[in-house]
Order: sequence, then structure tokens, then C-alpha cells
Amino acid sequence: MNYCVMDRGDELSRELTETFERLASERGLRRDETTPDVVLSIGGDGTMLHAFHRFRERLDDIAFVGIHTGHLGFYADWKPNEVAELVRLMADGGGLADRVVKYPLLKIEIATSAGTDSYLALNEFTLKGADATLVAQLNINDKPFEMFRGDGICISTPSGSTAYNKSLNGALLHPSLEAIQIAEIASINNRVYRTVGSSLVLPKHHHCDILPRKEQKLLITVDHLAIPYDSVLSVRGTVSEQKVTFARYRPFPFWNRVKEAFVGDTVK
Ligand code: NAP
Ligand code: MN
Repeated sequence: MNYCVMDRGDELSRELTETFERLASERGLRRDETTPDVVLSIGGDGTMLHAFHRFRERLDDIAFVGIHTGHLGFYADWKPNEVAELVRLMADGGGLADRVVKYPLLKIEIATSAGTDSYLALNEFTLKGADATLVAQLNINDKPFEMFRGDGICISTPSGSTAYNKSLNGALLHPSLEAIQIAEIASINNRVYRTVGSSLVLPKHHHCDILPRKEQKLLITVDHLAIPYDSVLSVRGTVSEQKVTFARYRPFPFWNRVKEAFVGDTVK
């Protein structure tokens, strides 16, 4: 099995990378920076976002695993003191096929006068006005739904629902649901502008289109990446046909991670 490690670059994460690589070579695992079978992210959830985007062309051939060197992560759910155990499980193999979970991704297509740009998001996409409030029409399944005015619009994946979307009061979606969620970022609501206010969860095969009013400078984010756009004709969001694969060498249910991250031990 070939692996590649990406770490956050801090001292603890770098040390863990060295430890992992030493133990891995003792067990006959091979380091491969271009065509790994397993990509190990050491750091935080942000580190996993970097790993995902580095290998987004090879998602069908890769399983991701994350070790957290800060607080417990949603994508980084292994502890630093479990490195040896992780190497052992990877080396013992038994094939990865029955030890993986697949999570849905968000597909974004941005149409401009120059053509269409496509992105895949593991967490979310956001659209904001760069120098003024965003004004945009939202269509759902080709039908006009509402005229949005405010800071922006966030479209998230189920596994991204615990990130930015949660700060926007969106719902937390279990990643076995193949869906995307549209959440408002500070919408202006008065007698002139009216939006639904609640988050909307769209199933597979539905789509939404955001049509920004002409000549607006926009800021688009895809996970940790920020991309300025001078003029956008439309943005389409759908559940992607592609999924991301995580190697699950032991179960750690999503709701347990939600509880540990956000609620803690107030109830046993
Ligand atoms: P960051 O500012 O370090 O990330 C913000 C926080 O989100 C970090 O604590 C990060 O965890 C956590 N996070 C990332 N993905 C998560 C997930 N799926 N579930 C729960 N928490 C998650 O920036 P970053 O590390 O480059 O991450 C980019 C992400 O930041 C974006 O995708 C977006 O979701 C989030 N963000 C949130 C807000 C907000 O809540 N107001 C605003 C902008 C961006 P780690 O510390 O483990 O990396
Ligand atoms: Mn971070």
C-alpha cells in the first residue's frame, strides 16, 4: 500500500509525520507523493481540506485518514498516540474496500462570459459581494424562488454542515444523506426584500442556481480557498456524482463526533 502524509507544519504535526514514516517503512508501506492509496492528514480539519484539494483529481483512487494534533476534528479523528495502531492496521491491510465510508460532495459550476469553471467542495461554497451587499436571484430546479440581498449564500455538504453552515444556524446533516444545504448569510429582510430565512436541504438530482445582479464584484470561497470574480452570470450547485472516501479503521459515529465537538460531557 502506498501512502502520502500532509501535515499542518507545526512542530507536533511534523514530529508525528516523522514517526509515522519511520513506522510505516518498517512495516513495508511505501511513500508515494503522486499516486498514493491512502492520504494521511496530520493537523486539523483545515489540513484535511488541503489534502482533499491537492488530490481532487484522484478521489476515486484514494482513501483519506486524519490524525488531529489540536482539538478533535471531524475529518481528523485519530489521536496522536494512536499512530502505531494506525500503521499496524494499514500494514495488516485486508484490503481497504470494507473499511471505508464515502461522503457526498458539492459540485459548483460558475458561468462567466469567458466560460464555465467547475469546483468540488468537501465543506462548502460561499458567494459574497466583494465590496457591497450581494444581490442575487435564487432559482430552485429552474423556478425563481427568491431575491436575496445580504452578505452572502452558503451551500454546504453534509460533512461540511458542522463547519461554516453551523455558524449560520444551518442544520447538521448526517453524511449518509446525499444532499446539499443552502444557508443564508445575514439576509436583509424588510418590506422590499424577502427571503425564506430557513436553510433549505436539496436532495440529489435537484439543483439551485444563483443569478447575481449584473456587474457585481464577488468573492467566492470553496472550502479554505477564496477566489475573486469580476462578473458572474450564474452559479449552479448540485450533489456531485463523485464522493470522497475515508478509511475507517474503527467506527466513530458522526453523532458522537458532533457531541464531543459541540456539547461535551454535560450528559452521560
Ligand atoms: P479556519 O478558520 O482555521 O477554520 C475554522 C474552523 O472550522 C476551524 O476550527 C476548523 O477546524 C473548523 N472546521 C473545518 N472543517 C470543519 C468541519 N467539516 N466540521 C467542523 N469544523 C470544521 O480555516 P480552515 O482550517 O482553512 O478551514 C476552512 C473552513 O473554515 C471553511 O471550509 C469553513 O467551513 C470554515 N469557516 C467558518 C466560518 C464561520 O464559522 N464563521 C467562516 C469562514 C470559514 P481545524 O481547527 O481543525 O482546522
Ligand atoms: Mn484551520
